[in-house]
Amino acid sequence: PAIALSLALGALFGLLLSRTRRVEGPVADLDRALARGEFSPYFQPIFDLKTRQIKGCEILVRWLRADGSVVPPMNFIPLAESSGRIQGMTWQLLGRALADLQPHLKADKEFKLSLNVVPKHLLSAGFIETLRSTVGAAKVSTRQIVIEVTERDELDDLVRAAAVVSELRDHGFRVAIDDVGVGHSGLSRLKALGANTIKIDKFFVDTIAVDASTTTIVEMLVALARDLSMSVIAEGIETEEQVRALISCGVEEGQGYLVAAPLPVKEFVELLERRKSA
Ligand code: C2E
Ligand code: CA
Ligand code: CA
Ligand code: CA
Repeated sequence: PAIALSLALGALFGLLLSRTRRVEGPVADLDRALARGEFSPYFQPIFDLKTRQIKGCEILVRWLRADGSVVPPMNFIPLAESSGRIQGMTWQLLGRALADLQPHLKADKEFKLSLNVVPKHLLSAGFIETLRSTVGAAKVSTRQIVIEVTERDELDDLVRAAAVVSELRDHGFRVAIDDVGVGHSGLSRLKALGANTIKIDKFFVDTIAVDASTTTIVEMLVALARDLSMSVIAEGIETEEQVRALISCGVEEGQGYLVAAPLPVKEFVELLERRKSA
């Protein structure tokens, strides 16, 4: 009986431990971070490759923990997605980004603000309604908002995705297909989605100045984009050589460390101010 009792106690402790572990686990960390507002928008400028004028920016999330550490998105986005926390995180992030940049968005009606949205969120019920009310509450025009949908994950329900893209565009939003060339982006899928913009992944930009076959691929993507009346943004630009190579392929806009890394709002606004007075 002593053995049975200790086994039962052991099982009870095990159960309690697993319960606490669940509460203390990584998903609980995400919930706490959400409750404390630890997810912050950083902003990376998107610029005209020829004039270097800043046309807009991409919101890139950073988890600023209480201990001062900064967690990069790849370390928590997958869990946020699988645990259903990505929706709340994305809305919180957009709300903060709109508040941060509202003066600038009002002063420059051409300035575009891009938000990354995972396919699962894009296709979830109420996405467009919440987007409209969040943007409306900030009194920002839908024309200034770009929804970036990554092609890394499969947008399996292409028909439904295309319908959402079309409805977004009806409301004035713009849509960009992210990471083109590295994911499941069949060329026919690009056409079927009906987005405004394609974003060429850093993977191609890395070798464009040194590899002729990369140049051919980028030229092909630009030709396709033109055919479909889509614009092209190249990401991950680090050198002037890459800018020259991209311009000769017909790419018009880009982003990358050459101009700026993703910046906290204060530094980003300072960059915009410096550019304005220059
Ligand atoms: P992405 O959307 O393709 O974003 C571009 C990534 O390239 C960013 O990494 C950016 O910091 C980085 N990058 C930009 N220019 C350069 C450059 O010149 N050199 C180098 N080495 N890197 C550059 P980050 O911020 O770590 O984000 C990684 C990915 O995490 C993003 O890739 C995106 O897929 C995801 N992500 C970031 N923020 C969010 C978010 O708010 N929501 C969602 N759903 N995903 C996000
Ligand atoms: Ca993106
Ligand atoms: Ca991208
Ligand atoms: Ca990318």
